[in-house]
Amino acid sequence: MRPTTKGIAVVVAGLLLITSIILNVISASRDKEENQPDEPEKNPKEIIMETNHKNDSIFMYNHMTKELVQMPLEEYLAGVVAGEMPASYDEEALKAQAVAARTLVIYKMPAYGGRGCSQAAGADVCSSYAHCQEWISEEQMRKNWGEDYETYVEKIKKAIQETSGQIMTYNGKAIEVFYHSTSNGRTEEVSEVFSNSLPYYISVVSIGEEDAPRFEGSVTLSNKKFAEIFQSKYGIKLDPNKLASQIKINGYTDSGRIQDITVGGKKLRATEFRLLYGLNSTDISFEFDNDSITMNTKGFGHGVGMSQVGADRMADRGYSYMDILQHYYKGVEIIQY
Ligand SMILES: [Zn+2]
Repeated sequence: MRPTTKGIAVVVAGLLLITSIILNVISASRDKEENQPDEPEKNPKEIIMETNHKNDSIFMYNHMTKELVQMPLEEYLAGVVAGEMPASYDEEALKAQAVAARTLVIYKMPAYGGRGCSQAAGADVCSSYAHCQEWISEEQMRKNWGEDYETYVEKIKKAIQETSGQIMTYNGKAIEVFYHSTSNGRTEEVSEVFSNSLPYYISVVSIGEEDAPRFEGSVTLSNKKFAEIFQSKYGIKLDPNKLASQIKINGYTDSGRIQDITVGGKKLRATEFRLLYGLNSTDISFEFDNDSITMNTKGFGHGVGMSQVGADRMADRGYSYMDILQHYYKGVEIIQY
């Protein structure tokens, strides 16, 4: 029997109704789970005072060429924004990255009371993401972007110019900046990762990152390999056939990441465990098979401060770079240094 057009319309309408009911139920239960998510606020623009610091130059230790190089601060920032954030991101996200990067360098510069970078004498910062923040050369930008080079350079320069001289302060001082690639849906409180406690780092929601390329990660190792890696680091022998009973999660942080974990009787910070096995984050779940162990992760990076993906998602939803920064760094002011 051939279905009539009317019949199909009724079925489609029925399906749409069911889908909408399901979606409503899902979103209601999510709201409940998240316990009133602290949806970021849209802030009025602040009045920015002009100052004369725009011609500052910095000494950067280039960790690739092993040279100390001097360059204008704003030129250095272009290399940082290019190295730290995809240039395809929204302009407001790039501006947030520019202010975060500028704040990090001002915090470090001895000229402004900082300690500089310990990688080389006389360096304000270095070019390594593992130590200060990533910086890439013009040559590297050309390699990364190909025919989009001109467009992306202009876009990044604009983000830097439009936030010229702006940094984040707390109690009148440049804040200590941390940021990361992708969150697991919430940011991490700073003392869970670094030894210090800073009032502007509290755990906040970071919405819409589930579809980000690095949201989900996974590392699978043979049980034997897992035990070998552990033994070589801590000198403790694990039974490869009984890993499930030798790994115990002791507790979670407010952001849902693991706080600490006991492996073979040895208690570790999850951050240490993450480094040992090269995992993307400390939001880890384990799967045990007969011969192998799989560690699934959510998010990418330590989770503290601005999530770069989260910044782009906020920008997509109409938030400005100031909204973004004041969401991830609570109670900061954005001023001309
Ligand atoms: Zn450094």
